[in-house]
Amino acid sequence: MRVLITGGAGFIGSHLVDYYIQQGCEVVVVDNFITGREENVAQHLTSKQFTLIKSDVCDTFEIEGELHLILHLASPASPFDYLRYPIETMRTASLGTHNMLEITKAKQAKMLLASTSEVYGDPEEHPQTEDYWGNVNPVGPRAVYDEGKRFAEALTAAYNRKYGVNTCIVRIFNTYGERMREGDGRVIPAFINQALRNEPFTIFGDGTQTRSFCYVSDMIDGITRAAKTDYNLPINVGNPMEYTMLEVAEMIKEKCESDAGNKFLPLPEDDPKRRKPDISRARDVLGWEPKVTLDTGLKSVIDWFRRKM
Ligand code: NAD
Repeated sequence: MRVLITGGAGFIGSHLVDYYIQQGCEVVVVDNFITGREENVAQHLTSKQFTLIKSDVCDTFEIEGELHLILHLASPASPFDYLRYPIETMRTASLGTHNMLEITKAKQAKMLLASTSEVYGDPEEHPQTEDYWGNVNPVGPRAVYDEGKRFAEALTAAYNRKYGVNTCIVRIFNTYGERMREGDGRVIPAFINQALRNEPFTIFGDGTQTRSFCYVSDMIDGITRAAKTDYNLPINVGNPMEYTMLEVAEMIKEKCESDAGNKFLPLPEDDPKRRKPDISRARDVLGWEPKVTLDTGLKSVIDWFRRKM
């Protein structure tokens, strides 16, 4: 099987590269390195199974030969990144997704769109099922990402409906693991690095807002199962265990033996107060559920950041 992974030099994409290489597939990565790093795929650079194309998915480019599966992950993903690159984020979700769907159609392949729990915005329903349509401010600062992904989903569904292109939409909830960037603004790498430096933790709001965190190996299992199905409606993939930011901070402090305090800053505009996936559909359609607890996953990521220091 020949697989194209856009955004394959990023955090989640590079773990997918590892998975498909291990399965014996040929893997082509298209990445413009706006937030990704070559070191994430350095272990494959000399492999005959692996091709790295440094290109923007918004540009038109040819991929020679057959393709069976396209995993479209390219997109700045952390609030810090997409607020820094608002226009690039919207171009990637719109023009980039259009280009990938055209390639999928031409190659008669299948495309999996990496969507996000952000399509639910600041949800008024809890937990979020795939049938909930969301609560998004279309002109707020986060809209570049939220509305971009909503557009990408709509375009993907339209290609499926109009041309019969085999598509699949995975709504990814907060994922953490090895290869996250220290400065990407996401809470787990931020807290871990503050703990390892014994600096105060930056907490937005009063820290009672909740998130659920999925360890990357569970996410890869969910995405790769979704890539094998012929199910076209969106599927939530995430860990339903919910934690407040204060609870996550305490877990990380304890594991890193940090006694640093907390520094409280105002909540960013449109920041969701609660986020938790209903994963009934993933259980039914994919036979998937997360296995790694936050306690176990955090230990592994803390060790990884320690080795990098
Ligand atoms: P990441 O920033 O580590 O990876 C994104 C990759 O896409 C990077 O390598 C970047 O260079 C590349 N990219 C961005 N725009 C591009 C473009 N125009 N052309 C080519 N390459 C481009 O982020 P991630 O956490 O690995 O996220 C991967 C995908 O999963 C994204 O689509 C994101 O929206 C989605 N997602 C992630 C999370 C999470 O918690 N990590 C949650 C929800 C959704």
